Amino acid sequence: MFIQTVILAIQHGRTVEQYKQSSNELKALNTQLEEKVHARTAELKQSQKELVEKNRFLKKISYLDELTHIPNRRSFANVLEKDLAEAKQNNESISLMLIDLDLFKKINDQYGHQMGDACLKIFAELLNQHFSEHSHFVARYGGEEFVAICRGETLQAIEQSANNLRERVLKLKVPGVSQGELTISVGISYSENANITDNELFEQADAALYKAKDQGRNQVVVY
Ligand code: GH3
Ligand code: MG
Ligand code: MG
Repeated sequence: MFIQTVILAIQHGRTVEQYKQSSNELKALNTQLEEKVHARTAELKQSQKELVEKNRFLKKISYLDELTHIPNRRSFANVLEKDLAEAKQNNESISLMLIDLDLFKKINDQYGHQMGDACLKIFAELLNQHFSEHSHFVARYGGEEFVAICRGETLQAIEQSANNLRERVLKLKVPGVSQGELTISVGISYSENANITDNELFEQADAALYKAKDQGRNQVVVY
């Protein structure tokens, strides 16, 4: 009995030792695991942040024109929809200015496409400057055609602004192009209380622009 008790005590002692060792190993493994989880979570957070930033950048450039870096046609459509709804709600006037460079094909033919691109860039800078002075939105609609949205102005003020822009283009300095060679035609549509659709507003500005071209270019026509 005594010997058996001694053997059992020794065996129990060993089991307790083994248990302690296993428990320590388990603790060490748990600590390692926790560290790995922390590191992986931090990595995931970082890549998520990078993805959000990339998406923001992509969204931003999808609304900008690649050549001139001013808003593009997609941006214009969004702003017009929003502005029209707001103007209607506030019973405010809204107007579109369609601005087209005159006989621009000739500039390309005479000076080359690269020079044509340079003209478009310089012209877009002038547009940005002109319309930001009036807090109006301007975009490149496509090719050598640009469009501005003017809210809360009288028709007289808009016509004056368009003529002012036309005169600024005549004085615009583009290296390699003779001064006065670049001219614009502008078609204006206007609604006193914004009770009009975006399509109607655009079509009326387009009709006015067509008339400006037909009457000899370098002029402003109100629909
Ligand atoms: P109009 O006075 O009737 O508007 O004559 P236009 O020559 O300006 O009009 P047209 O529609 O016949 O030609 C437009 C020209 O604009 C032709 C095209 O090569 C040029 N153009 C359009 N987009 C670009 C561009 O991104 N870069 C350059 N360099 N030229 C462009
Ligand atoms: Mg043109
Ligand atoms: Mg055109």
